[in-house]
Amino acid sequence: MKLEALFDLDPNVKVRTRFAPSPTGYLHVGGARTALYSWLFAKHHQGEFVLRIEDTDLERSTPEATQAILEAMDWLNLKWEYGPYYQTKRFDRYNQVIDQMLEQGLAYRCYCTKERLEELRHTQEENKEKPRYDRYCLHNQENPLDRPHVVRFKNPQEGSVVFEDAVRGRIEINNSELDDLIIRRTDGSPTYNFCVVVDDWDMGITHVVRGEDHINNTPRQINILKALGAPIPTYAHVSMINGDDGQKLSKRHGAVSVMQYRDEGYLPEALLNYLVRLGWGHGDQEIFSVEEMINLFELEHVSKSASAFNTDKLLWLNQHYIRELPPEYVAKHLEWHYQDQGIDISNGPALTEIIAMLGERCKTLKEMAISSRYFFEDFDSFDENATKKHFKAAAIAPLEKVKEKLTALSTWDLHSTHQAIEDTASELEVGMGKVGMPLRVAVTGSGQSPSMDVTLVGIGRERTLVRIQKAIDFIKNKIA
Ligand code: GLU
Repeated sequence: MKLEALFDLDPNVKVRTRFAPSPTGYLHVGGARTALYSWLFAKHHQGEFVLRIEDTDLERSTPEATQAILEAMDWLNLKWEYGPYYQTKRFDRYNQVIDQMLEQGLAYRCYCTKERLEELRHTQEENKEKPRYDRYCLHNQENPLDRPHVVRFKNPQEGSVVFEDAVRGRIEINNSELDDLIIRRTDGSPTYNFCVVVDDWDMGITHVVRGEDHINNTPRQINILKALGAPIPTYAHVSMINGDDGQKLSKRHGAVSVMQYRDEGYLPEALLNYLVRLGWGHGDQEIFSVEEMINLFELEHVSKSASAFNTDKLLWLNQHYIRELPPEYVAKHLEWHYQDQGIDISNGPALTEIIAMLGERCKTLKEMAISSRYFFEDFDSFDENATKKHFKAAAIAPLEKVKEKLTALSTWDLHSTHQAIEDTASELEVGMGKVGMPLRVAVTGSGQSPSMDVTLVGIGRERTLVRIQKAIDFIKNKIA
């Protein structure tokens, strides 16, 4: 029987990559960068991108983690042409290939007991040999089929495996270093490396972009692919991401999950731009739209060395995208944050106006949502430091006067509100700050906001006047 790949794939597609996460937790930034590189490479070559969920480790995989990964891929807008495929749904296929390999003598049953294998390892260690299966069962197949057994791949004994890693260059491993890998366990389940091989083959994967922690699997996988007569993909092993202290990136460094970056107020465009630069470059360019990334991305320029995560740079990019992307688009992401903060935005300025007002001041959308709460909701207390500084007896007269002037305005716009503050200051013969600061604290609750005219227009007349009166009462109360 001839072994053949299973999927009916378009033979005209010259590049097909995949992202193959194990659903044992959320999608972290390292995984997201691997996904991005794999996706970009496919898009750059007008190829296809496959999403495969490697859920064979039944103990560590959870449906929640799968959902979290899909949600993160969706948020990053990394779309796939095929999938998601689930390895747990493909066991029949893996076993079909294993059975055929047994028939063809590419694999063999091994009945060795745990005790025998332990003894073997012990002896090999004592003789200072590399621990390796001695092929006892390959040469002694008198055992009946119903005895518990595993299936091992007959790894070549001679020569070496050589591959040209698209990131790391030529890699060569002697076959004498490689064991006869178990491809099916005693309980009949196929093992991880084997599933990956059958999947990459069936799915017509031409380029495997993955983390460098898989580099040791590659020679084993290549040998199995060769035995199956399957094409060997090009491999690209991407380095790890460290924290800015040089240690492996972990929770200790702050956010590591992609969705946590959404929660913290980052735009997907900023995270993608950040991740693409983290280990890849195009001259000294820092800003890349997704379209530009697709046009420029090549594996040759992916760095071999580990990259260090730098939150300041990510913040900088985030602010850039908050200001530069179409406000209607940013508003959609911003809206999520109001919901997250429990802020009802049905009564207040349009979110595009908030972005125009606060885009220069806020580095994250979360910060923007929180710091613009007063445009949508009234408040009961004022910032303590701000009241100490600006709510003194001397603030009463300016507040009363400015309230009177604002009440009398026939139009409520930037010019008229500004004029009202200016007139108040000149009539009372005080500086603008003596009017503006108490007014700011009165209408926003704190000492920080965009310029007063912009703020007042955003808040609206009715709310402004009520808040000024509340502040006057508050100060009078305080002095009494
Ligand atoms: N499932 C593996 C992981 O999440 C990736 C395997 C591969 O890309 O070949 O690390």
